[in-house]
Amino acid sequence: MIAILGGTFDPIHFGHLRPALEIFEKLSLSELRFIPSAKPPHRWQPEASAKDRLKMVQKAIKAMPYFTLDDREYLRLQQDNVSSFTIDTVRSIREEIGEHEPLCMIVGMDAFQSFTSWRDWQDILNTVHLIVASRPGYDDKEKSQDWVQQRIETDLKALHEKPSGNVYFCAVTQLDISATMIRNQVNQGKSCRYLTPKNVDKYIKKKNLYASWS
Ligand code: ATP
Repeated sequence: MIAILGGTFDPIHFGHLRPALEIFEKLSLSELRFIPSAKPPHRWQPEASAKDRLKMVQKAIKAMPYFTLDDREYLRLQQDNVSSFTIDTVRSIREEIGEHEPLCMIVGMDAFQSFTSWRDWQDILNTVHLIVASRPGYDDKEKSQDWVQQRIETDLKALHEKPSGNVYFCAVTQLDISATMIRNQVNQGKSCRYLTPKNVDKYIKKKNLYASWS
């Protein structure tokens, strides 16, 4: 079973990586694909270029054979100059893997809280299982909504037996790290070691990223 983790990754950090690994192991995934958004439609634009963010993800996952980088959102922007919505991305992956293969999409609790504002969110759920990772500072009150209750699954085996449509809540190690916090630290001339892998920290320094972020 494959899972995807989309994000701005501006930059990628241990708050992405450790939960990703725990979910990978818990769900017995065969692959976890990181998908950096080239030009996120729902938020302010990233500070680092799409190329730099891809590069940092590539470096961060280098040592993990089943963690892969999927650059389809970047390529789509280069080729057609259009932003990818999540629905476009999950549909294109679904076309590649076929209709029967289970496909999971990991989101943090903060992203889950606004999920019903995403374009075609119901179609997204018909295309993937949603795996919701706990995140410090965000509670799970959305869990009681009818649409969630109708789709919630607690049996991991059941997720493997159907291609999409369930919501699974996964408790992960709570790491109160965000990319915003890292950008702020770097901007103030502080170190971001131990918040992100060493080679990402090195890359940030080498390319002088986030130094003028405000
Ligand atoms: P920013 O601070 O720039 O908003 P971020 O740290 O939230 O960024 P994103 O790239 O926007 O990182 O996040 C990608 C995905 O990873 C989202 O689904 C988000 O909820 C999840 N995520 C990010 N940080 C954590 C964390 N510390 N714990 C759990 N999930 C996280």
